[in-house]
Amino acid sequence: MRADPRNPGPPLCKSCGKPVDWSNVVRDHREIQHHVFECAYICPHCRAILEFSSWQTGVSRKD
Ligand SMILES: [Zn+2]
Repeated sequence: MRADPRNPGPPLCKSCGKPVDWSNVVRDHREIQHHVFECAYICPHCRAILEFSSWQTGVSRKD
């Protein structure tokens, strides 16, 4: 769900084509393993999953 520089409007859902942005996207957090979390970003209109992100807690990063 990245903004297209040629299209400054809100990002559009790939499934239903309706605008989805950070103010209306549905976030679904869950712990998929011990200390590993996943967040799904879900279209509020059609419930398509737009993007996943996951991260670990309790682990120091080297970036
Ligand atoms: Zn949608």
